[in-house]
Amino acid sequence: MEFNEINERDAAELGAIVAPQRISCGESSCALHSKDQSSHRAYVPGAVIWPLSAEEVAKIVSYACDRLMPVTAWGMGSSLEGNPIPVCGGIVLDFSMMNRVLAIRHEDFQADLEPGVIYQDLNETLRHQGLFFPPDPGARATIGGMIGNNASGSRTVRYGATRDHIMRLKVVLADGEIIEIGNRASKSSSGYDLVHIFVGSEGTLGIVVEATVKLTPIPAEFSAAVASFPSAEEAASAVFGIRRAGLDPVALEFLSPECMELVSREQGISIASGPAVFAEFAGPSASYLAETVAYAEEICRENGSLKYEAGIGRDRRDKLFRARHSLGEMIIRSHPDRKIMTTDVAVPISMFPSMIAFADAESRKTSLPRYLFSHAGDGNIHLVVLGRKDRESEIRTVEELNSRIVMKAIELGGTATGEHGVGIGKRIFMEREHGKSLEWMRRIKGLFDPKGILNPGKIFP
Ligand SMILES: Cc1cc2nc3c(=O)[nH]c(=O)nc-3n(C[C@H](O)[C@H](O)[C@H](O)COP(=O)(O)OP(=O)(O)OC[C@H]3O[C@@H](n4cnc5c(N)ncnc54)[C@H](O)[C@@H]3O)c2cc1C
Repeated sequence: MEFNEINERDAAELGAIVAPQRISCGESSCALHSKDQSSHRAYVPGAVIWPLSAEEVAKIVSYACDRLMPVTAWGMGSSLEGNPIPVCGGIVLDFSMMNRVLAIRHEDFQADLEPGVIYQDLNETLRHQGLFFPPDPGARATIGGMIGNNASGSRTVRYGATRDHIMRLKVVLADGEIIEIGNRASKSSSGYDLVHIFVGSEGTLGIVVEATVKLTPIPAEFSAAVASFPSAEEAASAVFGIRRAGLDPVALEFLSPECMELVSREQGISIASGPAVFAEFAGPSASYLAETVAYAEEICRENGSLKYEAGIGRDRRDKLFRARHSLGEMIIRSHPDRKIMTTDVAVPISMFPSMIAFADAESRKTSLPRYLFSHAGDGNIHLVVLGRKDRESEIRTVEELNSRIVMKAIELGGTATGEHGVGIGKRIFMEREHGKSLEWMRRIKGLFDPKGILNPGKIFP
């Protein structure tokens, strides 16, 4: 597709839609929006615009549609697959100024949000009302970006991904029309489910300008446990056992010995060495939790656990899960000279032990630094293997390893991307994963965005 570049006249007309101070064609603003947190190459947009309302977004998109210019939505740019990189230039819409919590209806467990709301800030506000928004990706992220990527995190095993928390959307379509889809009822059988076509569409079908999200009451009591194992496969079998027993953990995370070493070095947390499982449970009372944690210990021991530390207090639990949350950032910080490529696959939970054993064995074939970790409870595996940026052969080794792991996940009935989205990096696997149905995705894209202006160059090979 041949797109038009933004010229001075476009910049002036777009500036008149918003305000001159909310559009920039300057080098530094454009460079800041040329790249996400992945290692994919940067592409500089022609202009960055900070809209304040749905109507402004609609006018900008309508202008871009007439002038055949790409429009890419931008939350925090924390994606790991190149999802918001403006590969064809054009306009980047940065939602950081459209960040109002429009309403919290605590009696319905719902909130209406603008797309630039950051989920951590939302949860800080909600804490005082005893509620929270459960999806928790490991970086600061906006609601718009989480909807774009259908983000999830360590609590997904119990509460689901972003998709499971979106009830209603206001969306600007590719020609500038604004539509409202979904409703505020907790169930509905009313027609096609348009809401969930937009969730996970990475801004390629429409631009989300408002969302009604489901909230969850904060449980009364929490407890956590850490178990270490002789091998990754035994740890994974324990994870399967805990799920099979219906213990309903809030989080069930796997960390390889390299991750445990990093956590202990960087955060001063001393835990047994070896592959480990972090588990968190929540419930109505301390006695209920004591039973749950004891049952989980039995399962871990049956699967060869060498050490099981249970019932750890709130401070230590918070410290452990903060460390788990910041693991990705710790890895990036610890290897500034290396290219970060995070494998992100998910498999059915019964296949999790085989998948983790495969990823562990394959990654041990290289001598490069490696970190294997996983939102184990939902069969989602991340492997980071780090090649030096200036060593082509190391980068190729990492890419081939990533490819083998993705192919294995698909073979086991899983997916090429559990939570990071397709972006640029996973496009090559779409045919393999979706077969003929990829053509139907293309038709949906063509229906919503016939000129292909919304975040072009993503999802499709
Ligand atoms: C250290 C680290 C750890 C991470 N851990 C996790 C994790 O555990 N789980 C997980 O799921 N992800 C994780 N991520 C990836 C990333 O943080 C999430 O995908 C996050 O949801 C992206 O949000 P964002 O606001 O940064 O969006 P961006 O990266 O800015 O955008 C994401 C996508 O959404 C689109 N988009 C943005 N706003 C809108 C809008 N208003 N309307 C339509 N489309 C829009 C963009 O065009 C893009 O395609 C991690 C990233 C890092 C750096």
